Amino acid sequence: SASDPTPDDPSRPKPHGNWLTYAIGGAIIAAIALALLAPHVAESLEVGGELFLRALKMIVVPLVFTSVMCGVLGLGDVRKLGRPGATAIGYYLATTVLAVLVGLVVVNVIRPGEGTVDQAKLSELSGGGMGTPKAQITKALSQSTGLSTGEVASVLEDLPPGESSQPGIGSIFKNLLLMLVTDNLFVAAAETQLLPIIVFAIVFAGMLTTMHQDVSSITTLVVQSNEALMKFVMLLMNIAPLGIFCLVAARFGKAQASGEFLDELAQIGWYFGTVLIGLAIHAFVTLPLIFYLVRRENPYRYMLAMSQALLTAFSTASSSATLPVTLECSEEAGISKRSTEFVIPLGATINMDGTALYEAAAAIFIAQVVPGIDLTLMQQVIVAVTATLAAIGAAGIPEAGLVTMLIVLNAVGLPLEYIGLILTVDWLLDRFRTTVNVLGDSIGAAVVEKSLPDALPASPAAASAS
Ligand code: ASP
Repeated sequence: SASDPTPDDPSRPKPHGNWLTYAIGGAIIAAIALALLAPHVAESLEVGGELFLRALKMIVVPLVFTSVMCGVLGLGDVRKLGRPGATAIGYYLATTVLAVLVGLVVVNVIRPGEGTVDQAKLSELSGGGMGTPKAQITKALSQSTGLSTGEVASVLEDLPPGESSQPGIGSIFKNLLLMLVTDNLFVAAAETQLLPIIVFAIVFAGMLTTMHQDVSSITTLVVQSNEALMKFVMLLMNIAPLGIFCLVAARFGKAQASGEFLDELAQIGWYFGTVLIGLAIHAFVTLPLIFYLVRRENPYRYMLAMSQALLTAFSTASSSATLPVTLECSEEAGISKRSTEFVIPLGATINMDGTALYEAAAAIFIAQVVPGIDLTLMQQVIVAVTATLAAIGAAGIPEAGLVTMLIVLNAVGLPLEYIGLILTVDWLLDRFRTTVNVLGDSIGAAVVEKSLPDALPASPAAASAS
């Protein structure tokens, strides 16, 4: 790309043309058609999808580690991270808050919770006799998200018991702070906890920039490892249409085979549609406007250039598995590596606009459904604050947002068991919000690029790559 300081390497794979976008888009449509017509055949493709997903996930930890290090080494001095770092955090927070506001507005205007859910379903959910609600919820959530019951329970554990519910924003903050630092880097790597890995990479690369010895060999090692990993991502993208076809077919096939896919969707359609409208406003109005205001360029052209990452996000429902593709696309779209290298990994972990919007809208929806609950303005403010924090805390994995939404429900004393209402369609809604999450990170890289200090005449990254 034009703004990339590294000279063109002839061994570098050629950028993918539009064909790949069309191929992936076509694969998704064909996969959904197959799932609807022959769900059992579609389901049997699971292993193909899993292979593709594993290959993507395999690269994530080393890619994040080397990318963030390259980003800091490329600045030449860790102190230069101040302005772009502050811009990135400011952008993440501002867009997340905007997303929450959009979510609150659409759900309060459309009011999908009023008179759209049948009473039988409601009393079934609130009916006791099936053990404590917590045990029920833990089981349902772990079934739907694939997290272990232990992991779900650990989220629930932090929640004070329903009746005496205190907003507990202090304890949410505490947990967010603790997420920044791990006590064991290898455990963090094994569990793909990207945030402490990013923190470590910044500190480690930062130390390298302060050393008086020659650190060019370790710099070369990091830069070249990163190049190789990116090259692998580009190769992997050639089989993406196939992998994505299998992934989408298997998941939609599973839903169709259970015979409840379209029924569930019809039952909870107003809620689903409301969240989609909110996501669309954020994706097509708010974020493009920010992009345009900062860069004075056509935002939709940039979104088109990011489309392979967006489609991968839809197919995997995981911003962290999509991260290699997001990095690749944003670089191909001409955003300087020095911006993408740290903005995108950090964004994939803490910047989740779609998730924040969804959490706010879903919590208010539940309040509208439950008889006799009317949230005050103050309570809606609490929903906004906790939805923001819950989205920051959510991992970039499928349906993480559903689990952290318990924090939001709990903060305003909403009964947790009603999460059962939205559980069944969450696997699908998750795909749309993950797409918006990835779009937010991509636009973030483009926005932050404007705040970067001028490129060094010969940055270590550029020097050792040539
Ligand atoms: N699946 C989303 C993501 O990876 C998180 C969520 O569940 O909202 O970005």
